[in-house]
Amino acid sequence: MVTPLYAGITLPDQPQRFTILAGYTQLCGLSIIPSLIPHTGVNMSDKQLIQRRDFLKTAPLMVGGIAALAQANTANQAPAPSPVTVQDVIDLILDHANVEPIQDTVDTIKVGDPDQPVRGIVTTFMATTKVIDWAIHNRAFSANFIITHEPTFYSHGDETDWLENDNVYQHKRALLDKHGITVWRYHDHIHKIVPDPIFTGLVDRLGWTAMIDPDDGRTCHIPQTTLADLVRHCKEHLRLKAIRHVGDADMPCKTVGLLPGAWGGKPQIGFLAEGNLDVLICGEVNEWETNEYVRDSQHTNRPLGLIVTGHQGSEEDGMRTLATWLNEQYPHIPTRHRFADDPFTHL
Ligand SMILES: [Zn+2]
Repeated sequence: MVTPLYAGITLPDQPQRFTILAGYTQLCGLSIIPSLIPHTGVNMSDKQLIQRRDFLKTAPLMVGGIAALAQANTANQAPAPSPVTVQDVIDLILDHANVEPIQDTVDTIKVGDPDQPVRGIVTTFMATTKVIDWAIHNRAFSANFIITHEPTFYSHGDETDWLENDNVYQHKRALLDKHGITVWRYHDHIHKIVPDPIFTGLVDRLGWTAMIDPDDGRTCHIPQTTLADLVRHCKEHLRLKAIRHVGDADMPCKTVGLLPGAWGGKPQIGFLAEGNLDVLICGEVNEWETNEYVRDSQHTNRPLGLIVTGHQGSEEDGMRTLATWLNEQYPHIPTRHRFADDPFTHL
């Protein structure tokens, strides 16, 4: 059995018989990742959220208790416990990930101080200005550490030289600096975990964890439905305002492949063709590639389906599982996941 890292779900052994994708690298947010593997994950349930709220309600009482203890400690000359720093949290996450160290990684601190004591943590798919603002001003707690899956400053490497005089960059940077927020990206390492929590978070949200093909770990065998109903299922469960698809709305679907993020055309098309899929669900496409292949397939004896959730829609729930796990590791540090949401408005 394979035990997922941030969840209580187990998967059957998944031999890496993934010939379709084995020759490719995953392109997720433009980074090249040598991982291709299966997953499982779980989200913060309503019950857990209620428990979290209960914790937040009782936190002041706990703080009072801690203050009393601190007084007693002072009286006994006992040293105060050292605070948890940003680096402590990063080290714990990477220790738990237990993957080969990545030399050239984007998983670095983008803004802030690794030695900063952590007051509260926000996990998110994307550290947007709106998410940063929420971390600072929400009523439940004030966070000073954001863990983001994707870049903060509009390029994969988060280089800022080209943005020094840019109004949008300056505004975001000033907000982070003013409120002492540290931002760390957790991307390359989480995708190297087997099974990949970003994939399993998506599958769990869709309710298909028990339907993952044990052979390739990327296909789900779902009860037969139509493409239109499958689109509705994804839209509802991933909380999307709109969703795009290619293919006949009435086509039967039961073999569904999932490639969250941005893998690029050749891996997506290879998976569709060799994986014997009815439909592929992906995060995003280059619009001259996979969608055109699926469009042309409508004229063959084996028409295919494609559902494009958007990158955010496909990866948000993977990051949510990290918040659940961090809550267990640091029950005294408020940690919440903040939905980054779809940036597009659809008319
Ligand atoms: Zn990703």
